[in-house]
Amino acid sequence: MRYEDVYRQSIEDPEGFWAEQARAIDWHVPPQRILEYTDPPFRRWFAGGLTNLCHNAVDRHLAARGDQLALVAVSSETGTTRKISYRQLHREVNTFAAALKSLGVGRGDRVVVYMPNMAEAVFAMLACARIGAVHSVVFGGFAAHNLALRIDDAKPKLLIAADAGMRGGRVIPYKPLVDQALAAAVSPPPHVLIVSRGLDPDPAWVQGRDVDYAPLRARYEDAEVPVEWLESNEPSYLLYTSGTTGKPKGVQRDVGGYAVAMALSMRAVYDVGPGQVMFSTSDVGWAVGHSYNVYGPLIVGATSLLYEGLPTNPDPGIWWKLCADYGVRTMFSSPTGIRVLKKQDGAWLKKHDLTALKWLFLAGEPLDEPTAQWISDGLGKPIIDNYWQTETGWPVLTLLPGLDLKPVKFGSPGLPNLGYKLRVIDEVTGADAAAGQKGVLVIEPPLPPGCMTTVWNDDQRFLSSYFSHFKELLYSSLDWAVRDEDGYTFILGRTDDVINVAGHRLGTREIEESVATHPSVAEAAVVGVHDALKGQVPVVFATLRQATADTPESAASGMLQCVVDQLGGVARPARVYVVNALPKTRSGKLLRRSLQALAEDRDPGDLSTLDDPGALDECRRALERGP
Ligand code: ATP
Ligand code: MG
Repeated sequence: MRYEDVYRQSIEDPEGFWAEQARAIDWHVPPQRILEYTDPPFRRWFAGGLTNLCHNAVDRHLAARGDQLALVAVSSETGTTRKISYRQLHREVNTFAAALKSLGVGRGDRVVVYMPNMAEAVFAMLACARIGAVHSVVFGGFAAHNLALRIDDAKPKLLIAADAGMRGGRVIPYKPLVDQALAAAVSPPPHVLIVSRGLDPDPAWVQGRDVDYAPLRARYEDAEVPVEWLESNEPSYLLYTSGTTGKPKGVQRDVGGYAVAMALSMRAVYDVGPGQVMFSTSDVGWAVGHSYNVYGPLIVGATSLLYEGLPTNPDPGIWWKLCADYGVRTMFSSPTGIRVLKKQDGAWLKKHDLTALKWLFLAGEPLDEPTAQWISDGLGKPIIDNYWQTETGWPVLTLLPGLDLKPVKFGSPGLPNLGYKLRVIDEVTGADAAAGQKGVLVIEPPLPPGCMTTVWNDDQRFLSSYFSHFKELLYSSLDWAVRDEDGYTFILGRTDDVINVAGHRLGTREIEESVATHPSVAEAAVVGVHDALKGQVPVVFATLRQATADTPESAASGMLQCVVDQLGGVARPARVYVVNALPKTRSGKLLRRSLQALAEDRDPGDLSTLDDPGALDECRRALERGP
């Protein structure tokens, strides 16, 4: 099937297109109307339909593939591998659901899940879905403050936490963080359900509040919990955005539209079907983890490989060993993840038999061409960029190899995904930007199925954050983009990441791309810093590859040369700071806003999503030392 034809149908006849897609999932009661759009931009897909995510992800596969692996949970931290068939998954989820019910959790109640990439995190999510409870998974690496903020926003009936996580062999007990978060929260839940892996031998138990999952699991080992049939537009889960640009937003997802979008994207984008294996390196706490570690693969009857551990532990070949061991067909990771490997010897990419691997998808951040080229050459596999947001839940821009693979253009995530009516809008005039002209990437509503329905408990914030930027009612992605003559879209960075040098508007992304072409550079962040003469000047913070012959000074002058050669003198960075680490969010995104604040001697602002505070300190010291 030609992409162009299917895409056109999805835009010109959305109801016909989505009615057909809806057949890919099970409905207890079929939708009464495919689209209800009486209160724009709010929309209701598959209105009146009754369905359930857990039923579609688990129960409906029992007959045909009960003994097939549903989940393989590998931890290089605990040294364990758990292989879970669909039948076993069904068992575990029913038991977990019974435990939730015994704690008074029911339809519409929120449940915060604070766990690392372990099988029970998946059981917990699916158990919530089964009984109609709304899960909100909080990344296990977040500290007490972040957890408390999300608890206060979601007001959960229950918090489910692991006893501890591990990172690089170090045990990080969760219990003290949970206790701190609940002490700080305004509306703490009455119970905390602790799933222990025996990593924290002596957790301080709060009588009456904390509940150990082990005895509940034993008590409900044979329990059968019926699926709660939900109207398609009831909330399925909440997920907070990464907080790269400010206070995280509680993205709310529906049931039916999400299930249908998952089924479609697994087939058309990720090219994974029943019985095939997908490995996403994401944490379950991120949007990719929800969609492509849990719901997507399970909804289509595939096997999901879940990995807890560093990409370099026990050695930098671990991801590829897992691909070889389990016959992974599609792998999904992030540019940040690949840049970690790029610091290491490329020979690690060649050590394992990757015959079964067809595609490597990358998303979450701009994929710079040198990184794409490095991994593409190293693996000898197609690298497929895909652009999306927590808000959208599934790719907005990508190539669709499961449908019709168009040529890869490095630097572009590709073409509009099915159902997405995308435009690039001139920020000032509000008119459509011509090919080659820079503008803001927007989605013309109604947003397709799978995308957020609103901001949790805050319709007003949904409207003001996303739909109030233009005269026309349009969803702003808050990202800059440019489209070429072939319709490929290039993402130029966030709308608040533009540098204005003496009247020239430069995307930080463009300069970062250019700096990254220097062979010694592992990763670069460019920010605009106030300058009395020029308004703003670009400043570079960069890390170097391990095996470089360059000194920081020679690398820095090489970087400047790259920018001047490729973008011209106007883009020449004013200063280059070579550092050992760059500040990132816990999801691996560069925190440019805090670097910019440091460089302008301002308060770096909300750092609650910062991964490694040491990295920011180092940049501060580098600024004090001078370039
Ligand atoms: P917040 O919205 O709270 O500031 P965030 O935008 O980092 O956080 P996410 O939803 O995790 O939260 O990230 C989505 C953003 O990541 C996109 O809007 C875009 O800026 C960037 N992004 C994702 N994938 C790509 C990609 N393939 N190419 C370029 N940028 C990407
Ligand atoms: Mg965002």
